[in-house]
Amino acid sequence: MRRGLLLVIPAILLAAASTYPQPTATKVVSRPVQPLVDYSPLPALQQEIRPVVTPPAPVPRVVLGAQTTRPLVALTFDLDMTPDMAAAARAGFKWINTDGTSYLESMNIHATLFMTGMWAEVYPAEARRLARNPNLEIGNHSYSHPAFHSPCYQLAAVGRAAQLGQVQRAQQTIERVTGLTPKFFRFPGGCYDRAALDTVHAAGLIPVQWNVNSIDAFNPNPRQIASTVINGVEPGSIVVMHLMRGNAPSSAAALRLIIPALQRRGYEFVTVSELLAAGPAIQPTDPREVVEAAQPRPPPAPPPHWCGWVTGQKGRVYICR
Ligand SMILES: [Zn+2]
Repeated sequence: MRRGLLLVIPAILLAAASTYPQPTATKVVSRPVQPLVDYSPLPALQQEIRPVVTPPAPVPRVVLGAQTTRPLVALTFDLDMTPDMAAAARAGFKWINTDGTSYLESMNIHATLFMTGMWAEVYPAEARRLARNPNLEIGNHSYSHPAFHSPCYQLAAVGRAAQLGQVQRAQQTIERVTGLTPKFFRFPGGCYDRAALDTVHAAGLIPVQWNVNSIDAFNPNPRQIASTVINGVEPGSIVVMHLMRGNAPSSAAALRLIIPALQRRGYEFVTVSELLAAGPAIQPTDPREVVEAAQPRPPPAPPPHWCGWVTGQKGRVYICR
């Protein structure tokens, strides 16, 4: 009853007011008040300062190259050293191709060197000197170059339990000698299986293979190596070569053909890190995750010693022997 009365009274007052003559509206022109500080409403501010969380790019399982249309190519060089090679080095044999390294340095070529821990131990001064060159990236190529999956050419295999030790010992040796911490790992002989890939990832490294094999190991023919590389390279390629002279005798001569030829085609030489900054990794599509090499590479045919026409029972023929 009382509430009904309370509602009726304002209604009567409003009705009365509406009958009064209304004053003409005066236009009030005033500058909008500029607040000293532009306070945004609190919820909006909170939204603005909320950090944008983008998921990290997935770590590639195995890198073969990079997806890019830019004319970039990563030359990579393996520096192998087995216990037998280290013994030969102590006897005076050289497993270092200073002709090749000085050519890369003189041309300011960006490249990646996959170094075994033993190579860094046998050639510490050279390892340090190469690591100081900002154009060169240093990768891990195991400690003593065993096969992580067999068959793998003629490499001695390392058991599953010792594989992590191979990766870690190389990492520690390279860090101690050069002061650098490799991010990438290359399997000796390029041979691996799923468990070996897991081991490398567990050590915090990314396996890097290649999609252009120069086939420079034991190859005396620089033109053959060069044409293999020049014909195989596409934007984003990774090329595998060696810089050990003893078992890759023509790599430096091949580089003197490869580098000018690719530069004429507009290619820029980059490290693996620089290549992967330009595009996502090209990865193998084989779901078995196995790479093995059953046969040792056949030695290239020696060049003929003599060629000429000879007359036989069937007439004159041109032979080389
Ligand atoms: Zn190797």
